[in-house]
Amino acid sequence: MKNLLKKRVLVTGGAGFLGSFLCERLLKEDCDVICMDNFFTGRKANIAHLMDNPFFELMRHDVTFPFFVEVDEIYNLACPASPVHYQFDPVQTTKTSVHGAINVLGLAKRVKAKVFQASTSEVYGDPSVHPQPESYWGNVNPIGIRSCYDEGKRCAETLFFDYWRQNKVRIKVARIFNTYGPRMHPHDGRVVSNFIMQALKGENITIYGDGKQTRSFCYATDLIEGWMRLMATGDDVTGPINLGNPGEFTMIELAENIIELTGSKSKLIYEALPEDDPKQRKPDITLAKEKLGWEPTVPLREGLIKTIEYFDDLLKQPK
Ligand code: NAD
Ligand code: UDP
Repeated sequence: MKNLLKKRVLVTGGAGFLGSFLCERLLKEDCDVICMDNFFTGRKANIAHLMDNPFFELMRHDVTFPFFVEVDEIYNLACPASPVHYQFDPVQTTKTSVHGAINVLGLAKRVKAKVFQASTSEVYGDPSVHPQPESYWGNVNPIGIRSCYDEGKRCAETLFFDYWRQNKVRIKVARIFNTYGPRMHPHDGRVVSNFIMQALKGENITIYGDGKQTRSFCYATDLIEGWMRLMATGDDVTGPINLGNPGEFTMIELAENIIELTGSKSKLIYEALPEDDPKQRKPDITLAKEKLGWEPTVPLREGLIKTIEYFDDLLKQPK
């Protein structure tokens, strides 16, 4: 009888880096979790420890194709997040964001579920306002190599707000800033995983451009806490709401921290800056503090230590 009373939650992209933390947290909160993934960047290894849980269910499905499940809540995470992966098949990336949003919103409308969108700081593009508040409309190139992701996510936000206005679908939109932690794909090309893997292997650390561009790095469990709080708010709170760690670092500072924490002898080398790479990024989290009473608790070095341990173990595993 007990499971009939559980909240049933669908997580699209649940086998990815952040999805696996979310599924884990939802199971701890006594939810019945359905994880949907097409395994483009996600891995079964990320959720292997959840497979024996009777309240965890795995569905191999591509979010761009319609689906139907009776659920109370939906978290829409399906979308590759690393520039290397989202640029691999840019048309599919836009389809994933846009058709994916249409499919989850259509389902939410039909089953009256609350629906969360994993949006991104990329909606601000290469920002001319710093730090970025939610009221900033952004500076996005619509035809560049990052546009499939940036514009796909912007269009998804548009769809969320139109379904809210037109169909009263209960929406929660989070704009997520760079997040890192264990279970990031070791070869996904993002800066934290790249630098840690390079440092652990004693390879050169690849700084793109002059390394003075900045990012703000949030540890995964801090972010998930923000998601849970946002999902628990009343129907009047729709977002968009920034979630990220306001600590701002240059890529050189990040590399230096990782070299020190790993005790690596790796040297910094400088490579070409990818097109449209944002120069600076830092969230204004005033709204998250006000509406959710949320702010990050894990400082960069503490989070890096846990992430380094994860990649170190991964490298020691037999191939
Ligand atoms: P990830 O690549 O590890 O996870 C994405 C997951 O979505 C993977 O499991 C992948 O297989 C799945 N997926 C991709 N396309 C799909 C499709 N068509 N159908 C079904 N599943 C599909 O990335 P992540 O860092 O865990 O990001 C999760 C979400 O959070 C993404 O939507 C991303 O845009 C958003 N986000 C992440 C960050 C970050 O720094 N990690 C920042 C901003 C936004
Ligand atoms: N970057 C870098 N070396 C790498 C990978 C990334 O210097 O090996 C830089 C990249 O150019 C960007 C920053 O690190 O300025 C963050 O890149 P990431 O791909 O992690 O995320 P995003 O650009 O989407 O914030």
